[in-house]
Amino acid sequence: MRDFSQDHRWLSINTATVRRQAGAEVPLDRIIDQCAERGIRAISPWRDQVAAAGLDKVAAQLRAHGIGLSGYCRGGFYPAPDAAGLKAALEDNRRAIDEAKMLDAPCLVLVVGGLPGALAGNPAYKDIGRARTEVFDGIAASLEYARKVDMPLAIEPLHPMQAADRACINTLEQALDICDALDPQKSGMLGVALDVYHVWWDPKLEQQIARAGKERLLAYHVCDWLTPTRDLLNDRGMMGDGAIELRKIRGWVEAAGYAGYSEVEIFSAQDWWLRGGEETLAACIERHRSVV
Ligand code: ZN
Repeated sequence: MRDFSQDHRWLSINTATVRRQAGAEVPLDRIIDQCAERGIRAISPWRDQVAAAGLDKVAAQLRAHGIGLSGYCRGGFYPAPDAAGLKAALEDNRRAIDEAKMLDAPCLVLVVGGLPGALAGNPAYKDIGRARTEVFDGIAASLEYARKVDMPLAIEPLHPMQAADRACINTLEQALDICDALDPQKSGMLGVALDVYHVWWDPKLEQQIARAGKERLLAYHVCDWLTPTRDLLNDRGMMGDGAIELRKIRGWVEAAGYAGYSEVEIFSAQDWWLRGGEETLAACIERHRSVV
């Protein structure tokens, strides 16, 4: 297992972690500068932040700083109530793949979607089996294009509390079953983004990480699970402040062959987003070295 205690060369910052600082929205170019100032070598930005800053500008700024990506957030949201909606989702994913390519990302992260409309409070249907079929078909179609342009897709299984509104793929096993069905040759073009927040509780986690292996483990996201959790989406904890055995899980991931970045992804409306970016980034670096 790699020793993270001496430096933070394997730290990546998911830019959602510092998208709000001292309660205010911060533009991506500022976040990139803040990361560069601290010797952070990789980030994972979100599409809306990139669009606001300008794709070309972001690509140039990253190149100028020598900062790479650990992933691009995000594609997915495949289910839809009708054919036009399904088609629109595929087109949007194609654009996301093109953007990921422009930014030289190692993978596009897929949050696959749940019941269409549920995120806005009004699901168009309630058949989660149908949603899962639409997700499977959507990933199959995206993969065809992703292969052409050489952009790996990383399915992120989400905690079941988000099955209705964000993702109906909820365990690593379920994600790997899809990978094996669509990419049996383990080409490296389809795998998973493993986020400890979503999977730490899974009794099959160790076994499924071993099953995934190096070819399927495309990204690794860390934060912590606070007790009690006050918000289903935006109450993630800083590593070390919650219930997740981070060292143990990283041990499993590295034993399976993963040797990439450990990406800090913290949505924290009631805590870290209210603090200054300097404080949050300093904590990310310190906890990366001491507890991740
Ligand atoms: Zn994640």
